[in-house]
Amino acid sequence: MWGPRRTREKRTVTCIACGDSISRSDAREYDKLGDRWEREGKDFEFLCKECFRELCHQPREGLEALLTESLAGEGTQEEFLARYGELVEERYGAPEERER
Ligand SMILES: [Zn+2]
Repeated sequence: MWGPRRTREKRTVTCIACGDSISRSDAREYDKLGDRWEREGKDFEFLCKECFRELCHQPREGLEALLTESLAGEGTQEEFLARYGELVEERYGAPEERER
């Protein structure tokens, strides 16, 4: 619940993977261009901690491309995860296959 007095402005951002609203300070900045230092004129996207951690289980290489192809931030979470999963499987193989 929002109290009548807020000591500081809390910006909330939306996780591009699950669509959750999270406070800006808890969010992980995600720049699909992979360049955090060039900040001018950019809109950063954000991931919540859970999604950030999950995505980091995947090989880092090609993550930006995967997310872009999966249309992160568009459609529902289910659609995104399904597309993302498919793309990961296509590129890296299904997790079960790797253990064989
Ligand atoms: Zn999330």
